Amino acid sequence: MNASPEMSIPHMETDVLVIGYGFAGAVAAITAHDCGAKVVIVEKMPRAGGNSCYSAGNFGVVRPRASAAFAQYLDRLNLGMTPYDVFEAYAQGSEQLEKWFSALGGELVPRISALANTFPGVVEGPAFPKIAPSRKMFDIRIAKGPAELPPALRMWDFLSRNVSKRGIEIQLSCRARELTRAADGAIVGAVVEHNGQLRRISANRAVVLTCGGFENAPELLNNFVASKPIMFAGSPGNTGDGVKMAQLVGADLWHMAQTATLIGYKAAEYDAAFCIFFRAPGFIYVDKYGERYIDETAIELHDFDRVFSHFDPVNIEYPRIPSWAIFNERTLKAGPLTWSIAGYNRDKYQWSADNQAEIDRGWIVKAATLDLLAERLGLRSETLKHTFYTYNTACETGKDSVFDREPTSLELLRPPYYAIPLHPVMVNTQGGPKRDARARVIDPNNNPIPRLYAAGELGSIWGPLYDGAGNLTECLVFGRIAGQNASGETPYDS
Ligand SMILES: Cc1cc2nc3c(=O)[nH]c(=O)nc-3n(C[C@H](O)[C@H](O)[C@H](O)COP(=O)(O)OP(=O)(O)OC[C@H]3O[C@@H](n4cnc5c(N)ncnc54)[C@H](O)[C@@H]3O)c2cc1C
Repeated sequence: MNASPEMSIPHMETDVLVIGYGFAGAVAAITAHDCGAKVVIVEKMPRAGGNSCYSAGNFGVVRPRASAAFAQYLDRLNLGMTPYDVFEAYAQGSEQLEKWFSALGGELVPRISALANTFPGVVEGPAFPKIAPSRKMFDIRIAKGPAELPPALRMWDFLSRNVSKRGIEIQLSCRARELTRAADGAIVGAVVEHNGQLRRISANRAVVLTCGGFENAPELLNNFVASKPIMFAGSPGNTGDGVKMAQLVGADLWHMAQTATLIGYKAAEYDAAFCIFFRAPGFIYVDKYGERYIDETAIELHDFDRVFSHFDPVNIEYPRIPSWAIFNERTLKAGPLTWSIAGYNRDKYQWSADNQAEIDRGWIVKAATLDLLAERLGLRSETLKHTFYTYNTACETGKDSVFDREPTSLELLRPPYYAIPLHPVMVNTQGGPKRDARARVIDPNNNPIPRLYAAGELGSIWGPLYDGAGNLTECLVFGRIAGQNASGETPYDS
């Protein structure tokens, strides 16, 4: 596609063009507008909201005066993959969120604990307690909103109303195809496609990329993400367009191999996977060979890509994909194995409260003996029996000498047995164009690409370890930073 200025396609003008209308796009647009810029948002899907609207809606608010300590904590988690001043900007921005919300007529409330007492599910406690007591530095919040809406839609209600009330122009089913670059390298707009028609939108001040991640871009996943295959729980619109557009104008990329990945079940009938949680501790994970491989209760909820990506170079396979979760009757009865508030399947399938419908569908396997279980799961009976013997002995003695699982979380597995196949299930990718503390997209020489900004999941600040609620925080914090700095550019003198 030729995006040269001579292109004879319809043309419109704005100050700031925001590409992608999820939380980050909404916040960038609101902020740029409030700083005096004319803003246009383009969104490729017929319905706005992106991954954001399928999220659990949790974000983190750093406690007063805790941002310096929080930046240090983030630095330790990220092993040098993100410059320190970017974390400082994030931590300071998070500390200001409460004030920003109330200035816009919103209110923050403690999150709805959909996963309380869940194993694994350290979302309640410190995510990485061996590094720092992070939950003493920030609190997880959701936006206050209509009680009948799940938390993410309460936030969307708040943000989209703020966008509408400002009269910001939104173009749906309008896909940005290519950024437009002036002779001096400045980004001065984009070519977009609507109903098969191309159109040029000039952005006199700046373009903000908020087009989310690449969870539905098989080629990018194959190239960059370690676990294979990896499933996805969110919106189908996130196909990595922003990565490609940024690359084409010379952006450096970062964090392409990082994801927020849970465990989940992929039913053939549904495109997206169901995230799976256990609400009682009577469960273990075994690999393709029926062997346990980890303390199942100690993993931060979002870091399962690290666990599943274990590769066996002798047999040339990922022995943990799929794994089996095997659990007891008490765990089955403790509640539905998935959540009702989040995920693309939220509006498509209602998981039964007692998991019985999913047993009937064959999604959950039930067996009265270990021999039968092994047969149904295609595992060697002797191996499975040995795994059970070792695990149940640990429960009886209160000591898991193999994986050191906490004695309080060791619960005997007795018949009947239940099992569900587990895949790594991404809630989001983290990679994309590298950005600085001012949300400017930068090139491989660390120079900002003039007038190009990014916020949210596309090129997020998160490196190797992710602490839950951090992506939405980032949408809000960097959405604000990008909106402010984009609107502050002097009008382009072409
Ligand atoms: C099940 C689930 C639960 C989650 N829970 C949480 C949570 O509680 N807390 C948390 O912090 N994170 C959570 N996340 C992750 C979080 O939702 C995302 O990281 C975040 O919403 C990303 O927001 P965004 O605005 O950057 O992108 P999105 O909300 O994905 O928006 C990007 C938009 O850009 C559009 N777009 C893409 N390409 C183009 C193009 N070429 N032209 C125009 N538009 C384009 C997309 O269609 C999309 O609407 C969860 C994710 C899932 C799936």
